[in-house]
Amino acid sequence: MTISMSGKRGLVMGVANERSIAWGIAQALHEAGAELAFSYQGEQLKRRVEPLMAGIGSDILVEADVTDDASLDAAFATLAERWGTIDFLVHAIAFSDKSELAGRFCDTSRANFQTSLNVSCYSFIDVSRRAAALMPDGGSLITLTYQGSQKVIPFYNVMGVAKAALESATRYLANDLGPQGIRVNAISPGPMKTLAGAAVTGARRTFKHAETNAPLRANATLAAVGGTAVWLCSDAGAFTSGEVVHVDGGYHIIGMPRPDMMPP
Ligand code: NAD
Repeated sequence: MTISMSGKRGLVMGVANERSIAWGIAQALHEAGAELAFSYQGEQLKRRVEPLMAGIGSDILVEADVTDDASLDAAFATLAERWGTIDFLVHAIAFSDKSELAGRFCDTSRANFQTSLNVSCYSFIDVSRRAAALMPDGGSLITLTYQGSQKVIPFYNVMGVAKAALESATRYLANDLGPQGIRVNAISPGPMKTLAGAAVTGARRTFKHAETNAPLRANATLAAVGGTAVWLCSDAGAFTSGEVVHVDGGYHIIGMPRPDMMPP
């Protein structure tokens, strides 16, 4: 079955460069026929996003810093003015101070706890409410999470707590917005080589470990995550809501590393 997103339009939040998960998702949605708008954080990233979106014929670009209400007000007002309604929103946004994605979790500062949870979790609640107001005929909301929410991953620290909160928020949002025909899901890819991914100490080793031990012996590609996003945003995913969908080559089912790869 070929999934078509023809006639559907939505906002993609979180493209920083061509390696961003949001960009992989945008490409897949575009290939399936969707019309896309993009948001960016700050002038520096605007210069990165502009040529990418131009390459797929998109012309709606809004600034959106998720810590700034005025910026989100303006972004969603522009979207409402240009399109009136939307069918989907992709939230691929997270942040934590790099210095705390190292060392012990118990040394997490109050300030970085608040920042990490604000940017990486609260922002999804905030943009979901704003997007839902533009979805009179229902729609699909997607966020990105990571298995460090459920199991301890070295140095993922406060981001693990933020992702646990995000996954829980996904379920509460799904319950609130379901009666409006809006589905809310999280995609959980394994480790990927992006700017945010590289901020976690030992990222390269984590990547290699997951690749070696995942049943499929590979980490997710941007295209694989994009394909899952297309399914969740399309009518093919019409009865899936409140889920965390793993796109990690099956890594999350593994209980211990492969014995043949361990020192004798
Ligand atoms: P990325 O660095 O390409 O994207 C992160 C994005 O978050 C950037 O575009 C950045 O501008 C945005 N952002 C941060 N603070 C913001 C703010 N205040 N306002 C608006 N935008 C802000 O990295 P990525 O890996 O593509 O990350 C996308 C999502 O995928 C994140 O939620 C991340 O946690 C998640 N994820 C990543 C991996 C991985 O290994 N890379 C694995 C699983 C889940």
